[in-house]
Amino acid sequence: MPETIFSAIIRGEIPCHRVYEDDRVLAFLDINPLSEGHTLVIPKEPAVTFDELSEESAAALGRVLPRLCRAVVRATGAPAYNLLQNNGAGAHQAVMHVHVHIIPRYPDRPEGRAGLGLVWRPGALDAQAGAALAGRIAAAFSDGAAQA
Ligand code: AMP
Repeated sequence: MPETIFSAIIRGEIPCHRVYEDDRVLAFLDINPLSEGHTLVIPKEPAVTFDELSEESAAALGRVLPRLCRAVVRATGAPAYNLLQNNGAGAHQAVMHVHVHIIPRYPDRPEGRAGLGLVWRPGALDAQAGAALAGRIAAAFSDGAAQA
């Protein structure tokens, strides 16, 4: 696990605008927000991608996320928000320590302050290919390959 800026923030060596902290989780404002209230929620456990995370840290994140989302929405008045979690440089991960973005979405604000811009180009799932793929994933889940 490489040293990252988030490890230094967890240790308190680099300041952040902290909004929440417990034994396993820290949440703070993103330094380059996509919109007002853009918040990062990170496990204290050093893991690069979500699949590397222990069930204890994942549970701790999941336990606090809804409350943090409510807090961000109440504090900003945002009418909507996105949760974003990037894994790997190819998926736009820049800081190699697991983090969840809470990104308020303000459709009426100008680009650059409105929140996450999404290009969503869905395909169509072929029934036969879908059945085979779902079977492979289910098998991988149950045969132990998905164990951390
Ligand atoms: P990602 O592309 O998912 O890896 O996002 C990393 C996020 O971390 C970006 O939105 C950055 O603006 C944010 N970030 C990087 N350094 C800091 C920092 N020192 N304090 C707060 N947020 C940071």
